[in-house]
Amino acid sequence: MKTKKLVVLGGGESGVGAAILAKEKGMDVFLSDMGKIAPKYKQALDEAHIQWEEGTHTETMILDADEVVKSPGIPPTTPLMLKIAAKNIPVISEIELAGRYTNAKMVCITGSNGKTTTTMLTYHILKDAGINVGLAGNVGHSLALQVAHEQHDVYVVELSSFQLENMYDFKANIAVIMNITPDHLDRYDYEMQNYVNAKFRILQNLTSNDAFIFWKGDPIIEAQLKRIETEAQLFPFSEEKEENSKAYTDAENNLIINAPNSTLNMPRADLALSGLHNLYNSMAAGLSACLLDVKKEDIRRALSNFEGVEHRLEYVDTIDGVRYINDSKATNVNSCWYALESVPKNTILILGGKDKGNDYSEIAPLVKEKVKAIVCMGKDNTKLLDFFTDKVDIISDTHSIEDAVKECTRIAQKGDTVLLSPCCASFDLFKSYEDRGEQFKSIVKSMNH
Ligand code: ADP
Repeated sequence: MKTKKLVVLGGGESGVGAAILAKEKGMDVFLSDMGKIAPKYKQALDEAHIQWEEGTHTETMILDADEVVKSPGIPPTTPLMLKIAAKNIPVISEIELAGRYTNAKMVCITGSNGKTTTTMLTYHILKDAGINVGLAGNVGHSLALQVAHEQHDVYVVELSSFQLENMYDFKANIAVIMNITPDHLDRYDYEMQNYVNAKFRILQNLTSNDAFIFWKGDPIIEAQLKRIETEAQLFPFSEEKEENSKAYTDAENNLIINAPNSTLNMPRADLALSGLHNLYNSMAAGLSACLLDVKKEDIRRALSNFEGVEHRLEYVDTIDGVRYINDSKATNVNSCWYALESVPKNTILILGGKDKGNDYSEIAPLVKEKVKAIVCMGKDNTKLLDFFTDKVDIISDTHSIEDAVKECTRIAQKGDTVLLSPCCASFDLFKSYEDRGEQFKSIVKSMNH
């Protein structure tokens, strides 16, 4: 039989994992990255005897492929991707490739916000209960690498809409959609429905033995569910008990989870993560664990001792009576809404960065109620200044994290909260949202001597 030629585009965590797995399965593998490949990945490719290139795409090699694995970061509309499409070469994601070589159970989590938190929390519950579980997708090691070298019984996989775009036969056992609000619309021709369709690909191939967990309060999920058909068993969750809700809080503020084989009950106050959004994240993770038959006491313990995830409403320090919170991962308007929902009044909000087509009217009422000042932090703050100037008492225009924090400390009084929850991507001033959060934390901590 002819050896299959697989080309991997993108030499990051997922691409390198895919290349290694494909090589171990006997394929002829070539990895190409237009940018630079990190030294640790070059070393891993060399050790696996995989041919690679960086800073260029050699088209003769790439267009000769039988199949292409594309990094989720590469839009399908680049000139190279269009040439690949014109030659009808199938393009898949790393997750699709990995799924072909494992029979492990898959808990797959997507949504516009809350993916990482819910993924980490679900993983924490399963791990703490002694299950042989792997963490994959946008967090942890690539699924492909783990399938090649570790072989877990269950994987908790965080899936972005970009990853879902190139998934076809992959099948989840438990699929979770946390919520769908506008995000990344620049990559979906500014058509919300295209983005919704990508998210709903998480349901493809689900059978009547599989579960679909989702937030019942989300109008977009509800509308899409009417439009499509799924055989999966439905497990909606909601803040309060509603028709068919499988997870909710009761009148005494207990969290109730009703799975087919068990009912879990615990005080909401015992949850490690606070805020309404984290109640939803805890419900989705708890439901997933119940469906995997994890013991109730194990779920309760893990839901109450989870330590949280960096850059998501992360408490940094209190200086001169002012609390500083790092929510740098709030890269869209809806996640900032939940951040504002969970903070007290007299908050000074740092907003700004690379705008992805944001509509700020969603947070305007909460800004009115809770925000005493907005400090804009971006290369170009015009849109923010135009929108918020008549909606808040104080608004400042800054262009660096140092100046933004300085401005916050100037405005803040004892008892106030400073919240970095920017609604925007970080790339105008920072390498990444992690970089933005790290710099914020280090400046805040340096003030505390
Ligand atoms: P994602 O991986 O989907 O980007 P994260 O868990 O990293 O989600 O959280 C991103 C941001 O969204 C954080 O700022 C967090 O405060 C907020 N957030 C977390 N969970 C939810 C949720 N269920 N609904 C809305 N916002 C949320």
